[in-house]
Amino acid sequence: MTRAAPAAERRASPTSRGRLIVLSGPSGVGKDTVLRELFRLAPRLRYSVSYTTRPPRPGEVNGVDYFFVDEATFQAMVGRGEFLEHALVHGQWKGTSEAQVRASLERGEDIVLKIDVQGAAAIRPRVRDAVYIFLLPPSLEELRHRLEERATETQESLALRWENAQAELAEQDRYDHRVVNDDVGRAARRILEIVEQGRVRGIGRVHP
Ligand code: 5GP
Repeated sequence: MTRAAPAAERRASPTSRGRLIVLSGPSGVGKDTVLRELFRLAPRLRYSVSYTTRPPRPGEVNGVDYFFVDEATFQAMVGRGEFLEHALVHGQWKGTSEAQVRASLERGEDIVLKIDVQGAAAIRPRVRDAVYIFLLPPSLEELRHRLEERATETQESLALRWENAQAELAEQDRYDHRVVNDDVGRAARRILEIVEQGRVRGIGRVHP
């Protein structure tokens, strides 16, 4: 186990390293739908499966959508420094496994992280030249409408979701690219173009 990482390090030349792609955007903007289309278009892309203390929603699969863990397990992982970043999102802990990300990058795979603005801010100083993409709604009215639909579904207050969405949107200028989700196919293709453009030496490398 302890010898696997150095061996992988030796095999991977800097140019063969994959890139880290960070995707953020307010709740209701359609990140999951756009990502589904992106992975359909580019099956070679990897997805970073986050850990969360949030209970699974109907249809969500452990190890696919998230690794669902209890609070004690999550905090123990925090204590062992196993997260590249972690944050409290809508009252639940979410975190990115550093081992998972490193393993992909060292195999030369590009890996997509769907994380909130706090997570992206925590990663910026730690990862050189990752690609930061912010997904925007076509309009604020459209976002409001989508959030109203969701608030009814989840019983979560619309006011809270709207407040969080505003806070997320306020961070959009910190991202390298902003993509408007006016059409799922178009947004996914634009993200893929950005990913392909970023194919330069050393990008996405995690600092040792
Ligand atoms: P949901 O609970 O609806 O699956 O996710 C809500 C939001 O949590 C996502 O849109 C995403 O921005 C954020 N999120 C998911 N996984 C992570 C993670 O590992 N770290 C951080 N910081 N945010 C995450």
